[in-house]
Amino acid sequence: MSEVKIIGVVGGGQMGSGIAQVAAMHGVDVVLHDLDHRALSKASSSISSSIDRFVSKGTLSQAAGVEVLKRVRFTTNLEDFHTADFIIEAIVESEEVKKSLFVKLDKIAKSSAILASNTSSISITRIASSTTRPCQVIGMHFMNPPPLKKLIEIIRGADTSDETFATTKALSQRLGKVVITSQDYSGFIVNRILMPMINEAFFTLYTGVATKEDIDKGMKLGTSHPMGPLELADFIGLDVCLSIMRVLHAGLGDNKYAPCPLLVQYVDAGRLGRKRGIGVYKYS
Ligand code: NAD
Repeated sequence: MSEVKIIGVVGGGQMGSGIAQVAAMHGVDVVLHDLDHRALSKASSSISSSIDRFVSKGTLSQAAGVEVLKRVRFTTNLEDFHTADFIIEAIVESEEVKKSLFVKLDKIAKSSAILASNTSSISITRIASSTTRPCQVIGMHFMNPPPLKKLIEIIRGADTSDETFATTKALSQRLGKVVITSQDYSGFIVNRILMPMINEAFFTLYTGVATKEDIDKGMKLGTSHPMGPLELADFIGLDVCLSIMRVLHAGLGDNKYAPCPLLVQYVDAGRLGRKRGIGVYKYS
């Protein structure tokens, strides 16, 4: 099993910045890459404010918080990953875009490096097929927000080696997470179950069964979910939810996974959820 000293994270959005923070909080040096330097400055301030919250709750000392920030290096240059032992991709949920990134990572990363994807639903086997090292490609699906959620879902592609799996599992545990393992089928475990529920909540709103507030209240108080499904969709990002539904629909081949037209319309209108200030709800 190889030792992981430096982690590269690609994509400085809500997941990538959170993953970088988790790694740094557990003593690992991190290089965080995004194409967009504005995304990197947003990532830097979101990591700082999350660290401040840990410090004010007393779960992290001020000095340790300063050290965490020092462990993250921000870059727009993918070549900076040449020293990374383990690279976690957390960019847009598109198979085409992810595959073209993996082609580049395969060329830049050292031959022993593992390439992991934080994809919510896309086939790891197909992502791996774009590289010359499919046995070193794996799914490592963090939950949102990564610094707070305990779970990592590990997905083995058709060619993922036992060594890659063991290194990824050991790393996940070192990051303080509980691991579950899924075979490589669309949506894996968590999103295969969660996304059809969110989609059904959109259909419930679309067909006028109830108001958004009552749908969320019903699921929170009626089934003890911490967030209602529409609130949760806004938190995840409606674009991410729609992409996952499309992957489930195409991959599992059943019309029950067809995305709700209202979800499609919101995404078309740029109502992507909290990150855009408007989704199902408006945020000030
Ligand atoms: P996001 O939109 O917040 O961030 C994506 C970031 O990737 C952006 O900053 C963008 O500039 C950057 N990016 C896009 N293409 C790039 C490229 N080629 N190279 C470098 N950077 C690039 O998205 P997110 O919510 O963080 O989701 C990222 C991934 O994590 C997706 O695959 C998603 O399915 C998965 N995921 C999301 C959630 C969630 O709740 N949002 C949970 C688990 C997994």
